Amino acid sequence: MLNKKTVEDVEVAGKKVLVRCDFNVPLDENGNITDETRIVGALPTIQYLVNNGAKVILCSHMGKPKGEPVPSMSLAPVAKSLSEKLGKEVVFAADDNVVGENAKAAVQAMKDGDVVLLENTRYRKEETKNVDEFSQELASLAEVFVDDAFGTAHRAHCSNVGVSKYIPAVGGYLIQKEIEFLGNAVNAPVRPLVAVLGGSKVSSKISVIENLLKKVDKLIIGGGMAYTFFAAQGKTTGTSLLEADYIDYAKKMLDEAGDKIILPVDAVIAEKFENDAPSQVVEGNIPEGWMGLDIGPKSVELFKSVLSDAKTVVWNGPMGVFEMPNFAKGTNEIAAKLAELDAVTVIGGGDSVAAVNQAGLGDKMTHISTGGGASLEFLEGKELPGIACLEDK
Ligand code: AMP
Repeated sequence: MLNKKTVEDVEVAGKKVLVRCDFNVPLDENGNITDETRIVGALPTIQYLVNNGAKVILCSHMGKPKGEPVPSMSLAPVAKSLSEKLGKEVVFAADDNVVGENAKAAVQAMKDGDVVLLENTRYRKEETKNVDEFSQELASLAEVFVDDAFGTAHRAHCSNVGVSKYIPAVGGYLIQKEIEFLGNAVNAPVRPLVAVLGGSKVSSKISVIENLLKKVDKLIIGGGMAYTFFAAQGKTTGTSLLEADYIDYAKKMLDEAGDKIILPVDAVIAEKFENDAPSQVVEGNIPEGWMGLDIGPKSVELFKSVLSDAKTVVWNGPMGVFEMPNFAKGTNEIAAKLAELDAVTVIGGGDSVAAVNQAGLGDKMTHISTGGGASLEFLEGKELPGIACLEDK
């Protein structure tokens, strides 16, 4: 894991260890967890600490309770799920103050190998402002801090960054895995390295484009953001997503990158932003009154041929409006191509993860990032505060 200490680099036996997990799981209206992926992802670190005789104090945020107790965002259901998965009781320290009397008493009563889960850290308004008092309170519960929440690594909050001021901080297995896969894919890839970028806006991915252009052999651009590049090529784009302010920028990118940037050569266009709207495939100009909602079949073939040679692929953002079945084909075909490649395939968070899972191909990818925003900032080449604060090796 780069040059940062991990859970294996510190003494944990008999110690109280505070672990920041990402238990921000979706709940249905009855408070049942509908997707346990994040809980499963946290198990290796927790199990390691239990096996090595630590007193394991878990914390996480869930949703946005905005600094006050909101019962529907309590972590209680997570404690239940964790207990089942670990095969041992995880004590839930119900406490509106997160580190109030109940939590302190629960920690006080712990024996080696016990696990306690604190209440949603965002019940406290200090959490997202990284206020020292709350960081100190959290740190006072433990002797060692383990950060295993990659999904919040791009934010500096009390429970992932603030605590590291007061007790030694190291990375857990999940964070380690994320840094290894994302980091190696971008900074030490087996070449050729091909990046596939999609999604809605050029403006939100400019830093990603710039950082990746320095590193990749080819950069494939699809999704809604491709139409600003179409405009830069002098094509009409109808009512497609277009960021007029970025056309000059797209032109500059195309001039500088030469044949490194691969754009769609056709589009599936529709009369309306609706699954059942009349649609057709066009090459070249998109006529007035029509919008591009997916890459066309020739683009799919072009992108697949570029991907065929790849030894490493990083993918962020869908190729079209994949939420609508009639415009999901481009995204699904690219997912299927990645699944059959003999290459390292890294899916960089957010909608591309949803798309790969929707296509049932999640287990065919080398690594699926658990952090949407965090993986995007990683691809931008930014230092993530949640990783920077960990102790150096
Ligand atoms: P982002 O959050 O920027 O990665 O964008 C993801 C969203 O982009 C998804 O909800 C897609 O439906 C949307 N998207 C992809 N292609 C298009 C398109 N051609 N037109 C409109 N939205 C699109």
